[in-house]
Amino acid sequence: MRVKTILNHCQKFKSFVYDKARFVVENGEPFIEVTVLPRQNSQAICSCCDQPAPLYDRLQERRFEFIPLWGYPVYLRYLMRRVQCTSCGVKVEQVPWARGKRELTDTYMQFLAHWAKMLSWREVAVNFRTSWEKVFQAVEFIVQWGLEHRNLSGITAIGVDEIAWRKGHNYLTLVYQIDAGNTRLLWIGKERTVKTLLRFFRFFGTSRSQELKFVCSDMWQPYLKVIKKKAGQALHILDRFHIVAKLNKAIDEVRAGEHRQMKKDGYEPVLEKSRWCLLKRPENLTEKQEAKLKDLLQYNLKSVRAYLLKEDFNGFWDYVSPTWAGKFLDRWCTRTMRSKIEPMKKVAKTLRKHKPLILNWFRAKKAFSSGVVEGLNNKAKVTTRKSYGFRTVHGAEIALYHALGNLPAPPMAHRFC
Ligand SMILES: [Zn+2]
Repeated sequence: MRVKTILNHCQKFKSFVYDKARFVVENGEPFIEVTVLPRQNSQAICSCCDQPAPLYDRLQERRFEFIPLWGYPVYLRYLMRRVQCTSCGVKVEQVPWARGKRELTDTYMQFLAHWAKMLSWREVAVNFRTSWEKVFQAVEFIVQWGLEHRNLSGITAIGVDEIAWRKGHNYLTLVYQIDAGNTRLLWIGKERTVKTLLRFFRFFGTSRSQELKFVCSDMWQPYLKVIKKKAGQALHILDRFHIVAKLNKAIDEVRAGEHRQMKKDGYEPVLEKSRWCLLKRPENLTEKQEAKLKDLLQYNLKSVRAYLLKEDFNGFWDYVSPTWAGKFLDRWCTRTMRSKIEPMKKVAKTLRKHKPLILNWFRAKKAFSSGVVEGLNNKAKVTTRKSYGFRTVHGAEIALYHALGNLPAPPMAHRFC
């Protein structure tokens, strides 16, 4: 069987034919080169208007990278033509396997982008003997195609979230669709200001914004303000995941401060290595952590009291009625305010201030569990942390859309992977 036969099976073009396939060695590297010719009596297509046009002249030959075969790179080789288009003038022709000045064929880009969902971009480059830049180009192409062709209708619930980006206080605002059975990343914006979220609503459009029934976010003031203004009809829910994260952050602060103080005062450092005992849910502790926690609970420490308050707060989520949940919240806040533990008091103050929005979770009948936003948030963190090697926000955006955007892909006649 010839390479040509295989190619005709998986990728046949109406106006072009595969000619000879041959082995070429360049700089000691062997590869397969397949010549492509225009089919007889077929007309070239103008790259400007996609219409057939008469031949003007021929340019130089170009090589397009295709999917490697058995470890050998594969290139399509083609002598580009120019057309004399009646509406556009003299233009380069449009070929069906690649766009514009790209060296990679569409098929190969889709192939690389497919693997880049499962492996890091570096790993894809190494495994398919290509460069990181080419993998990036491939993913960027697929993401852009997907963004242009995605369907944004029927979105009724969104979640607004943020992730730290690189070192320091840089943030990216992420907006997800969180409808049941349809969760995906919709939009990414730099920073987490009023302007950031306004940009999202401008992109999303007034009519779509007014169709929103639920918006989940954390207690970040700029978000609250914009959501009220732009999607005031939606039930705004402060989601559980962000509230639990706030409590954990407070515990961490209490523990770190107390630990430092104890060391300074010459006490036995009982809080050493206690971080996860206090942050994890009791059912998730390892045996060693469980023993450590049991030991810790004997001491009258601020960290322990803060931990007990946090654990007690879990009861809040079990309520069904917003009224009773509200009563629980009031009691918990009063107790916490009396605890004299500053970071916890700060949380209690915030919760009090946003009580109506927090109780909206019960009004939404707990439809938006913390799992949805938390799961997406974890995936986003993994995506940006993995050493994909991007130095720019644009690189991170492409990676995030690729991993979380649930984007449509260009149609392919054959599944190569
Ligand atoms: Zn034209």
